[in-house]
Amino acid sequence: MKYLLSAALGALLFTLAGCQTVPRDQVYSDDFRATYLTDVCKTEDVICDWDQISQVVSLRTDTKEATTLIDSNLVLIGEEQIQLDEPLRLKRGRIITTDEFRRKVIGELKKDAPTLVEKVQTVLIPKPKPAEPVITGNFRVRKLREVILDAGHGGKDPGAIGYAKSQEKDIVLDITNRLARILEDSGIKVHMTRKDDTFISLQERSAIASKTKADAFVSIHANASKQRGVSGVEVFSLRNLTPTEMNDIKRTKNRRIMMDHLVASRNDPNLDALVDEMMFAHKQGESFQLAQRIGEDMARSLKIRMRGTKTAGFYVLRNTLIPAVLVEVGFVTNPKEERLLQSSRYREKIARSIANSLIDYSKGK
Ligand SMILES: [Zn+2]
Repeated sequence: MKYLLSAALGALLFTLAGCQTVPRDQVYSDDFRATYLTDVCKTEDVICDWDQISQVVSLRTDTKEATTLIDSNLVLIGEEQIQLDEPLRLKRGRIITTDEFRRKVIGELKKDAPTLVEKVQTVLIPKPKPAEPVITGNFRVRKLREVILDAGHGGKDPGAIGYAKSQEKDIVLDITNRLARILEDSGIKVHMTRKDDTFISLQERSAIASKTKADAFVSIHANASKQRGVSGVEVFSLRNLTPTEMNDIKRTKNRRIMMDHLVASRNDPNLDALVDEMMFAHKQGESFQLAQRIGEDMARSLKIRMRGTKTAGFYVLRNTLIPAVLVEVGFVTNPKEERLLQSSRYREKIARSIANSLIDYSKGK
């Protein structure tokens, strides 16, 4: 009964979308034909810029400008909107693009571009601006300066309870405190929803998240199952939000920056909705990739089973516009894994693994 109760408490934090497969738009396949955006811009003679704060990607020719966000299927060229099947993605800190992007966006940008003869003429007539492609912006950015660490449960809420009576709230607090120390030592600023055994409501956790300037939210939990044989690590990222959830979202500074970038399209009455859509796509894509990285790194360094990267609708994440993941570090209901989780050496290993994933991610690796 205890296990059922703790499982129910664990489920309080997020409503799982079941064992659904990852939405198609989030599936990241390595086999689709991809090229780095910087290379495409160079060969196509287009100026590329990536704003590291707003994540806005802009491409310019002499006459036109295209704006989009990483992971967004929408590209704006002046008043025109282009829908993509496959958006721009980030892979280890570099923007990768597709044939479709090249065709639809770069093709459109270059439509009325000056011909070679016109170009030669402009070169012959001295002009202050060089005609050569210029790559501006930093394409390998630090994506993470501040992080919010959220140790699950606490106080009157023990979370999952193992066969040897270990409580989830204690295990995850210890791992989170270790993680905080490692991240701080590496120069990442850390905010914590709790540092000791106190009960923090989901509303409070959410409020803490929206008050900081953090670039990512990492929640640490331990898993429970009715079957004692079940083991391994699971990492969740934010799933697609329902329209109601979308309306809940508070406006953030990121959104304002995004709006400033789109000043040319201000006349569009649908701009608000468009920007929201782009921001969400971006946040979900980033969350998914971060979750995948943490899960894979943990499975490798701890030699444990990776149960997969799943998506969930976290309560605490709805009001933030930052990538967010929830790590289930192992099953306290599995006697072997519970024993491991009771060892401080193992908890330190978990903390180191998650920290390394975040540090690599912060460097855009
Ligand atoms: Zn939990």
